[in-house]
Amino acid sequence: MKKNTLIAAVSVLILLGMITVLYYLPRWQNKTYNQTAFVMGTVFSFSLEGKEDPTSELLQLGNSLEKDTLSRRVKDSEIAQINASAGDENGYPLSEEMEELLTTCFDISKKSEGAFDITLGALISLWDIDGWASGERGDAKDFRPPSKADISSALECCGYEKVRIENHRIYLPEGMIIDLGAVGKGLYLDKCRGELSGNINGIVSAGGSILTVGEKGDGSDWKVGITNPFEDGLYATAVLGSDKCVSTSGNYERFVEYEGVDYHHILDPKTGYPAWIKDSEEDSDDQKVGVASVTIVSDSGLLSDALSTACFVLGEEKALELSAEYGAEIFIIRTDGSSATEGNHFLIK
Ligand code: ADP
Ligand code: MG
Repeated sequence: MKKNTLIAAVSVLILLGMITVLYYLPRWQNKTYNQTAFVMGTVFSFSLEGKEDPTSELLQLGNSLEKDTLSRRVKDSEIAQINASAGDENGYPLSEEMEELLTTCFDISKKSEGAFDITLGALISLWDIDGWASGERGDAKDFRPPSKADISSALECCGYEKVRIENHRIYLPEGMIIDLGAVGKGLYLDKCRGELSGNINGIVSAGGSILTVGEKGDGSDWKVGITNPFEDGLYATAVLGSDKCVSTSGNYERFVEYEGVDYHHILDPKTGYPAWIKDSEEDSDDQKVGVASVTIVSDSGLLSDALSTACFVLGEEKALELSAEYGAEIFIIRTDGSSATEGNHFLIK
């Protein structure tokens, strides 16, 4: 082969190599994908870095979890069918996933002495704080707390101890409605973790629940802000490694005001009223310091979400015990503005 031909062939090969590198380089480099959407009645947002965009798949996962499984308002979802079977002596067959979810929820109900209870659907519908707070129910000025008689009769249809699960079937008493609003977002985070194996890192946020994915590029910890319930801005920060779930339940998240009292969306099954509000009969003692928000850190999204709701209702002393029982860390902001914590992931601002 002539020298010139050889030089030409090598040049062509180098050129082809360069074109290939230039073509594939963007695919080898990490990109950041930011996405926000309205799912499960709240805002989901993703800030993830990786070679391929996982966000549409994750959104799809959220939408189908809501539609097929968790939403009691979607007619054919699994939970809607379970609710429709209330009063049926033949019960209803449970999928393996639903049985596991409900069993975990009822376990938390037992350990929280009923403070956490997914069978509160009738009471939640009666108050419909979500509907009033979002404006779907009408003008918030028209909101009135339900009467004591209506609260009592709604409570008759509630109570986890009235539910039976046997041979993979569930038996609900007449009128009972299961509401999974306190656990859906956490369960979703666990599913996201399953999808996001490999070289992706960043944050998935589903309403008040957050998942840290992988390691931060600069090797530092992930920092998740804990909202100040009393004024704009943050009260504290959770400093976290990879694959941790953080959930906050707070009285400031969804509420509607009537005669100077903010009626929020986390209900105390013992009183039938929102937990820790001043005018509920059992909590009328003004000296009592209640809970304004509870943040839980756990390896499990389901646990962080469920426990934040449970601990909010339970109050400080029992909340510290319950979170310890599940190996979770907890940060409580009291209604008087002070705080309590168990765990070393929290920094007060
Ligand atoms: P958010 O959904 O705002 O993140 P939570 O996770 O604390 O807040 O869940 C609150 C939702 O849980 C309510 O909107 C309602 O659907 C349901 N819920 C209210 N009170 C209770 C309770 N005591 N136990 C279980 N679920 C509850
Ligand atoms: Mg919750």
